[in-house]
Amino acid sequence: MNLSSFCRSLPKMELHAHLNGSLSADTLKKLYKMENPNSENCENVVMNADNLSSLNECFKVFDIAHSLTVTPQAIFHSTYNTVKEFQEDNVIYLELRSTPRAVQGKMTKHEYIEAIIEAFEVCKTDFPSITAKLLLSINRKQGYNAAQENIELAIHFSKKYPQYVVGLDLSGDPMTGGTFLELLKKARTAGLKIAAHCAEISNETETMDILEFKPDRLGHCTCIHPTLQGSEELFSMLLKSKIPVELCLTSNVQCKTVPTYESHHFKYLHEAGHPVCLATDDKGVFHTSLSREYEIVSSTFGLGYEELVKLCLASVQYAFATPEEKQVLLSKIENFNRKMCDNVN
Ligand SMILES: [Zn+2]
Repeated sequence: MNLSSFCRSLPKMELHAHLNGSLSADTLKKLYKMENPNSENCENVVMNADNLSSLNECFKVFDIAHSLTVTPQAIFHSTYNTVKEFQEDNVIYLELRSTPRAVQGKMTKHEYIEAIIEAFEVCKTDFPSITAKLLLSINRKQGYNAAQENIELAIHFSKKYPQYVVGLDLSGDPMTGGTFLELLKKARTAGLKIAAHCAEISNETETMDILEFKPDRLGHCTCIHPTLQGSEELFSMLLKSKIPVELCLTSNVQCKTVPTYESHHFKYLHEAGHPVCLATDDKGVFHTSLSREYEIVSSTFGLGYEELVKLCLASVQYAFATPEEKQVLLSKIENFNRKMCDNVN
């Protein structure tokens, strides 16, 4: 089996995917037709979203997705299609993250979250091979009050749907400081898991605050790089923390927070035995898939099939799933591995 088929058939764990950025060109076209049933313009508006090349064009996908997800129906379809596509890529466990959104006269934040849950319910029947969970995001850019509101919502929905709403994600403009961490304590006390985007830009104070807060997982950590001047201390702090890091190679390279795949900090974290998992971040925006991310890591850093399986197995431990669910996920990956070994021998 060649690398690409191997990565595709490997049962994978996706722990860092934003709903809006994960929408494929196909989903965007469907949403456009839903909103504008009589328009012939769809191809132009969605701009052959498969063919976008520059980063600026890529980011237009965020804007398009934003403008097309203004009703509970659109959120339902966005979620449904995204779960379906991850399942088609042999992802067996998916944590989607999203900032609840209210649109005047069309949708409340409550309805936004309910629509995602409804889609999860239907997916459970339609795509039983994938387990989906939701992390509600706090976008730092939207300020303290919105963050507080989203935390209340996360606590409320985690009680109502504990099988789906499992955590909080801290994302958005990293320049806005550590005040949000105080809020996150409340969520943690209520039993929610915390994933925090960390060190996407060089901001030592905030990075230290986040590391001291000890989230359950960290996203990116691109500026905690052992070869980056002044970052050595942060790197050793990170290693000492043993907090799993979600690494999104294509996203980092395309956003130019990491210059090349070869210089990606995956190498250093993996060599140091630090817990990491591979993720897509925004598969729609960056035209990637989780299979593709495994392929890139293997071909860039020379990881063999066995090591890729190990990465998958380790990711199970970092998931915000129940111990019973983790057992099932582990055995799916182990079964796959056994079958592969049988074929080789
Ligand atoms: Zn992200």
